[in-house]
Amino acid sequence: MTKTTPPSIIALDGPAASGKSTLGHKLAETLGFLFFDTGIMYRAVTYVALHRDMDLRDESAITHLAQSVQIDICPPSVKDGRACDVVIGEKDVTWEMRGGDVDANVSVVSAYAGVRQALSEQQRRIGLRGKVVMVGRDIGTVVLPDADLKIYLDASAEERAKRRYDEIIARGEQSNYDEILKKMIERDRLDSTRAVAPLRPADDAIIIDSDKLDAGQVFEQVMKLCR
Ligand code: C5P
Repeated sequence: MTKTTPPSIIALDGPAASGKSTLGHKLAETLGFLFFDTGIMYRAVTYVALHRDMDLRDESAITHLAQSVQIDICPPSVKDGRACDVVIGEKDVTWEMRGGDVDANVSVVSAYAGVRQALSEQQRRIGLRGKVVMVGRDIGTVVLPDADLKIYLDASAEERAKRRYDEIIARGEQSNYDEILKKMIERDRLDSTRAVAPLRPADDAIIIDSDKLDAGQVFEQVMKLCR
């Protein structure tokens, strides 16, 4: 597949809280593209499984759930920092899906080959329409290996944990930095060591370390690459 300039398919991968969503959202808005955060799908499956008291070790039941669950993504109905509403059934689960329970269990669910196949197929179908910024862990390596532009956004675990901590405090909720850091390191470990589609930069990805860059500087750097 030939790459188009400016890019029509942008793959944006990286570890938890590396700033992918902020960057992806702004890029999509500026370019008039669709912003698609694939983490939502893995979180939604995990949320429903926990909600239904399912055994997360039951790979075949969890895979069946991933193949059948209906996840609705709609424009934001509340101005509370969300990029979209995530609705399952009739219930708005936008923030519940980002809670500690889901954080602690999502990597078990996302390691199952059948779950990944079901969700990746949907992601690929949407991504191949073009004019899309797709955010995740395996977009440049597995979901859209022919993407026109691949960015791998990295930052130290300490910096990422601090950003996540600040976000939670800004929402007026309680938080604990050390706990966030510990859990984030564990989630990254599980995501990068799983057998299927592990978190890693694609060979042709441009790696950006955002430790010493603010969101605006990262955005400018990527916009230059787009031009
Ligand atoms: O990006 P976010 O933190 O919302 O992702 C939640 C989890 O979903 C990740 O920790 C990972 O286990 C899984 N995920 C994945 N592949 C993707 C996107 C997310 O495995 N493309």
